[in-house]
Amino acid sequence: MPNRESSAAESKKQTCNPLAPLPPLGMDAEAISFDFRRYFAHTLGRDDHCTSSHYPYKALALAVRDRLIERWKRTRSTYENDDCKRTFYLSLEFLMGRTLSNAILNLDVSEEVNRAFIDLGINLDDIRGSEPDAGLGNGGLGRLAACFLDSCATLELPVRGYGLRYEYGMFRQHIANGYQIEDPDLWLRDGNPWELERPEYTQRIKFCGHTEHINGSVRWVDTQDVLAVPYDLPVPGYRNGTVNTLRLWKAAATDEFNLEEFNAGSYTEAVEAKNDAEHITMVLYPNDASENGKELRLRQQYFLASASIKDVIREWKENHGSFDDFADKNCFQLNDTHPSVSVAELMRQLMDEQGLSWDQAWMITGSTMAYTNHTLLPEALERWPVKLFECLLPRLLEIIYEINARFLSEVALRWPGDTDRLRRMSIIEEGQTSMVRMAYLAIVGSFSVNGVAALHTELLKQGLFHDFYEFWPQRFNNKTNGVTPRRWLAACNPGLRRLLDETVGNGWISDLPALEQLVTHAENVSFQRKWQQVKRENKQRLADLVKIDCNVGFDCDAMFDVQVKRIHEYKRQLLNILHVIHLYNRIKAGDTKNWTKRCVLIGGKAAPGYQMAKLIIKLVNSVARVVNNDYQVGDLLKVAFLPNYRVSAMEVIAPGSDLSEQISTAGKEASGTGNMKFMMNGAVTIGTLDGANIEILEEVGESNFILFGLTSEEVEAMRHHYMPNRIIDQDSDFKRVMQLLESGYFNQFEPGIFDPVIESIRNPYDPWMTAADFRSYIDAQEKAAKAYLDQRQWIRMSIVNSAKSGRFSTDRTIQEYNRDIWRLNQTSIPSVIEDVQ
Ligand SMILES: *Cc1c(COP(=O)(O)O)cnc(C)c1O
Repeated sequence: MPNRESSAAESKKQTCNPLAPLPPLGMDAEAISFDFRRYFAHTLGRDDHCTSSHYPYKALALAVRDRLIERWKRTRSTYENDDCKRTFYLSLEFLMGRTLSNAILNLDVSEEVNRAFIDLGINLDDIRGSEPDAGLGNGGLGRLAACFLDSCATLELPVRGYGLRYEYGMFRQHIANGYQIEDPDLWLRDGNPWELERPEYTQRIKFCGHTEHINGSVRWVDTQDVLAVPYDLPVPGYRNGTVNTLRLWKAAATDEFNLEEFNAGSYTEAVEAKNDAEHITMVLYPNDASENGKELRLRQQYFLASASIKDVIREWKENHGSFDDFADKNCFQLNDTHPSVSVAELMRQLMDEQGLSWDQAWMITGSTMAYTNHTLLPEALERWPVKLFECLLPRLLEIIYEINARFLSEVALRWPGDTDRLRRMSIIEEGQTSMVRMAYLAIVGSFSVNGVAALHTELLKQGLFHDFYEFWPQRFNNKTNGVTPRRWLAACNPGLRRLLDETVGNGWISDLPALEQLVTHAENVSFQRKWQQVKRENKQRLADLVKIDCNVGFDCDAMFDVQVKRIHEYKRQLLNILHVIHLYNRIKAGDTKNWTKRCVLIGGKAAPGYQMAKLIIKLVNSVARVVNNDYQVGDLLKVAFLPNYRVSAMEVIAPGSDLSEQISTAGKEASGTGNMKFMMNGAVTIGTLDGANIEILEEVGESNFILFGLTSEEVEAMRHHYMPNRIIDQDSDFKRVMQLLESGYFNQFEPGIFDPVIESIRNPYDPWMTAADFRSYIDAQEKAAKAYLDQRQWIRMSIVNSAKSGRFSTDRTIQEYNRDIWRLNQTSIPSVIEDVQ
């Protein structure tokens, strides 16, 4: 039995060991407050002269981060000890937004932090508001990746995200004279308290050079190498002790690369070379649903693929002697074709670096890769010139040729003599300039191919990928998108959250279908009154934002009619403006009996090179100026363009909206996720039968959804005899709208600027067929206006929309990915607190 002294010495020795476990950090208000003050005063060196809310933000972030890191380490060691199967989510985009509020919610310290800051006399909203958005994505695709990570951690699934640490995220948008101006987004300027640099896991990535084939083995030599340095971000689950990882790669120059140039006496060239290397992760390409084919973009894609796969193989080899069960323990989910060069890169690493045979490597690749398609738009389908591949990634091109040759011989066996089919299905598109079709590479190299809504998956199978569907029908599956209810309801709508908690309990936060119980309250007058009160407060918050950012006054009695999303012709912001002009015409004509007051809000970024999208922004602003300054209009109609639409703006917009505009040409919007955020927060959708709108309609029923427009089949059937000029002529409302637009009424000092917009509406080959849905849209808007006049009816619709949003949680989406594709075991992390008891 040890005596007192030696046991004290023992424990002293323990505390001197820097690697010995520390006692768990307090989760109470006092402990958090103390750490906050210590970080503020000691670590950041501030005192009461500090007026900016940046330092208080940083101090709180560090205090919260410590608590995340405790759980993060446990999560890592649990996964390692369990040797569990893992999924790696590869994406060029993660549109994370802000981290602080989400971390506080998921760590379950909201009340404690609130109390601490009331005692400190500091406004927590100011602190939250000073965090910059992590805007490492364009729109829906990048935000989906972020919502997926939240749900994976909440469902206790061992999933790691891999992406790029862009120095410049999505550009910031401001409006000058009605036009979009892009400003650089230097989001890392003041440091990022959420990231942890991991230089010990730096990888070396090859570019250019050439290959040498020496008796069966291949060497890729004379390459220009770039270092990939990982930065980890914590991804906490909702109140479960899990903290998963998002690993972002930053490009850095290799030392010897510089040295070589330096020794040759060319100091400036050495620095330039360093710049070239570091340019790879300099900027996010701001194109949504279109490819610009820049060489640097292919460099980014390969850089992500190669670094991530190397990282996975490094970790695998630390714990395993062979690759025999690699395929049983690993899965790569490719977020669109952007990371699809991974198929060839995994082959390369397994063969050239790990010594596996082609057949062994192909077995592993084809049973670990899974591909998600996000769009049917032909301009978004990635194809890279063979020439570019040859120069930049010569070894990868050889592997792609071999994959293609073996694949085509399989096709030829199944359909002998069908050379047209071989040409159609080839990964290499022959022509003036031969191209590598990245989507085909992804399909051939994957065991799963999924679309993101039921209609979208059907259209993939019947159209774009029909040949592949005939060959491998079992490979295709649907996974309808979702959004995380933590960020998009619990955190962004505290008023509604309280009402939901007191009505159905708080289980809905991790079990969204539980909201269905609300339906029984939809007709209850006192519940309706509370619901209306919450909505009104949220509308006031949104009105405040619109006042500050647009200098337009929104009246909370009016219907808030909102369309926020990337500006693209297929999303048809133009149709929305045509309706606004129609309402303006009615007001000018005195046709305002039983009028519903409306505040129309439109927001979104246009790709900097997309001229038509930029012109649509100018048109919105021009119409807004005329409408808002016409004394005859008064408060019957207000129009505003919200600049710099982003995640943190949507967190104010969705709770404050009445009507959600989801009006894409049917068959063009793969899923949409903005539609789900609005629905969850009790907005009613006016929408076409497109993407996930169809599934929203299925959930809420026709009486709670304002449906209009052609179906995707009708759109395709009408294309051949589409005559917009005749449609306009035969509709007096439409004619008046076009007359006003064509008269230059909205652009008095800039004659002719909207001619391209007018031509696109009148063009019989308009791919988006805006005119075809005009009448149906106007009638649906009138129906919405009438419904809004009956506030009891409207509130009932609003309640039903929230109540039926359960299916659109990413918790459901991720459960389906896991059930059908990943097959991971749920892995619980032991609690930090229990450990010491
Ligand atoms: C949800 C979201 C999107 C996607 O919106 P859609 O309407 O589905 O196109 C785009 N950008 C941001 C900032 C979002 O939060």
